[in-house]
Amino acid sequence: MSYLMNNYSRLPVKFVKGRGVYLYDDKGNEYIDFISGIGVVSLGHCHEVVVNALKKQSEELIHISNLFENPWQEELAQKLVKEFWDKNAKAFFCNSGTESVEAGLKLARKYWRDKGKNKYKFIAFENSFHGRTYGSLSATGQPKFHKGFEPLVPGFSYAKLNDIDSVYKLVDEETAGIIIEVIQGEGGVNETEEKFLEDLQNLCSEKEILLIIDEVQTGIGRTGKFYAYQHFKFLRPDIITLAKGLGGGVPIGCTIARSEVAQSFTPGSHGSTFGGNPLVCKVASSVVDKVKDLLPHVSEVGNYFKERLKELSKGKVKGKGLMLGLDIGRDCKEVVLKTLERKVVINCTAGSVLRFLPPLIIEKRHVDRLIEVLKEVL
Ligand code: PLP
Repeated sequence: MSYLMNNYSRLPVKFVKGRGVYLYDDKGNEYIDFISGIGVVSLGHCHEVVVNALKKQSEELIHISNLFENPWQEELAQKLVKEFWDKNAKAFFCNSGTESVEAGLKLARKYWRDKGKNKYKFIAFENSFHGRTYGSLSATGQPKFHKGFEPLVPGFSYAKLNDIDSVYKLVDEETAGIIIEVIQGEGGVNETEEKFLEDLQNLCSEKEILLIIDEVQTGIGRTGKFYAYQHFKFLRPDIITLAKGLGGGVPIGCTIARSEVAQSFTPGSHGSTFGGNPLVCKVASSVVDKVKDLLPHVSEVGNYFKERLKELSKGKVKGKGLMLGLDIGRDCKEVVLKTLERKVVINCTAGSVLRFLPPLIIEKRHVDRLIEVLKEVL
């Protein structure tokens, strides 16, 4: 009997230890981890950078609340903004991806309200995923996540990814923002096309609509650029949302907005008790420094990985850097189980897509092992 709510279906393995790209179960078996806690443990398990920052900061100060000055937030915000196109952008810290999206949506509405405009609607995309709280759930363009939780927050509609006409059809005077993932993660590792993104950016500029890029899964080096939107030189997001890999395992989320938009959060307008405490900020700060060094490695291993997946010719290969998918065109749960039996941890998303989000430190030899196993299993 379990005292836990039944909202997760868990795989039959008990991991008790992790080091680098490896996980160990309670029987001492070693596994290669190709999912890294769904893109969270970006430097691998128990990386010395994370462990040392945790140890050091936890002996000095763990939490103070946002009632007081917080130099740890300042330091981390500076590092994150430095990579953003607007060097005067500002950051808000929270604890998860869904919260970073909530903050982004609230900020977008507030920005237009402050300007005296009745712009409150959002356009999101089919198959998107933005989180489980009501705002981000409403932005999520997958009915299966909505079921039973309606009514959702009003003002959300869903366009088709890579179909600019479908976006134009939904735009009106009341559109506040468009929210998009540069590569849809949970929706099946679906890439957006360059031309579509260019049209979308132009549409946002033309019609005064805020562009919100959800980088919760794609951000912090996952695709080989610090932010995935940087693959497209013309993109100028007004707001980006971050979480997952930012903390290397500690819970932290962040919303970054270009300076003019950020001004709409004034004292008391939004907040979080835990958000950006000294402990998580110190860890994230160390993670960010390390990830910056790893970017060339992510691209190199990512390209190699993608090419090797193509060899399998058992499905469609998708994604960038170390955010890759293989759509096998049929239910992939069994493949995940069989791969797990062979001591390699992968994930299945959108029903038929094998998803790979390994720690960014993964090496070609680990990829080779995965390919060997997949050849056997598929
Ligand atoms: N946005 C995207 C793109 C995500 O992939 C996720 C989680 O998978 C979220 C938001 C929600 O993040 P969290 O589970 O930390 O709330």
